[in-house]
Amino acid sequence: MIYMDNSATSPVKEEVFNAMVPYFMEEFGNPSTLYGLGRSAKKAISEAREQVAKLINAEVDEIIFTSGGTESDNMAIKGIAFKNGNEGKHIITTEIEHPAVKDTCEYLKEKGFKITYLPVKENGIIDIDDLKEAICEDTILISVMHANNEIGTIQPIEEIGQIAKENNIIFHCDAVQSVGKIPVDVKKANIDLLSISSHKIYGPKGIGAIFIKKGVKLDRLIHGGGQERGIRSGTENVPGIVGLGKAAEIAREDLDKNIQYLSEIRDALIDKVLERIPESYLNGDRENRLPNNVNFRFAAIEGEGLILRLAANDINGATGSACSSKKLKASYVLSALGLDDADIHGSLRLSLGTENTLEDVDVVVDTLEEVVSGLRLMSPLWDDEKNESMELDESKFTSH
Ligand SMILES: *Cc1c(COP(=O)(O)O)cnc(C)c1O
Repeated sequence: MIYMDNSATSPVKEEVFNAMVPYFMEEFGNPSTLYGLGRSAKKAISEAREQVAKLINAEVDEIIFTSGGTESDNMAIKGIAFKNGNEGKHIITTEIEHPAVKDTCEYLKEKGFKITYLPVKENGIIDIDDLKEAICEDTILISVMHANNEIGTIQPIEEIGQIAKENNIIFHCDAVQSVGKIPVDVKKANIDLLSISSHKIYGPKGIGAIFIKKGVKLDRLIHGGGQERGIRSGTENVPGIVGLGKAAEIAREDLDKNIQYLSEIRDALIDKVLERIPESYLNGDRENRLPNNVNFRFAAIEGEGLILRLAANDINGATGSACSSKKLKASYVLSALGLDDADIHGSLRLSLGTENTLEDVDVVVDTLEEVVSGLRLMSPLWDDEKNESMELDESKFTSH
């Protein structure tokens, strides 16, 4: 089986699992209790907090554990909106955010907030001038993701952070797809709030973290026993936290190596597909892109059929994002690139992991070539496409 859906979730690394194991049984203590067992759980949490902080160049007490990326996004956006809503009601975000940000903003819209959704250019990256123009007296928050989950494009977060700082606006960054994959430095990018998820970086599901810069105040979503400095109550998910910490540590140690390794596989995959499959295109910027993301578009192809045939050949990828691929709705991310419905439905995301190899790439390209041409043979759209390109070729020919 070839797994190329690591942006949806990744397997837990063995070292991560082994680090977690003691905290289910022998070390089951409640970190809030004062005697031995509780103390060792508390120590394990402190260590994990250090490991996560180090990965993003934060201070240890700027990391709060949550149940995942979705909770971190909700906490950041609602937390700031409800805390600072009397100072202003305007939030700036983008058209390509993950649903955890997008739907939270939609909810706040119902509560009387004004949301500006910045468009992206054809390459999937925002125009900094659009951001500058959108800022007004009323703006309390800018929420822009670092790397996109579907097309892997990387936003200029250092420029965004600088603009936010100059205008005294809080900057939240959903970095779930970028943390552990490319360098993330909260200080350098002037980030106030940043979302992290464990299961996208070979850690367990249902655990994540939020970076909250010292001095930034936000309303709480969850009230209770006062854990996590009262910002996020609830008995800590100790094994999960330990797992996230370990995953963060490994990601930091292996960062440069993985960037180099994954970029090589990614580039081989892109080059071979574009070369061998006619009318195939890459969605999203080629350069400013995660080392593990490719997103192709095949003319006259129905993505669902493509996915099923790849799966029948033991290759697992995704159309759209994992969250939206179950609904047969066109991806709003791809639509924001200016693609029409047919192009969107002919798109395929393959997100690589460290387990993938160059041999996998060859298998995937061979299979894709076969599957795409097979599907096109049955597609009336493909006949139209061919006729059109023939007409194009002829007109090119005659104009010489
Ligand atoms: C996966 C993902 C999330 C949600 O994280 P969970 O831990 O699954 O809740 C948020 N934002 C982005 C960009 C993601 O890829």
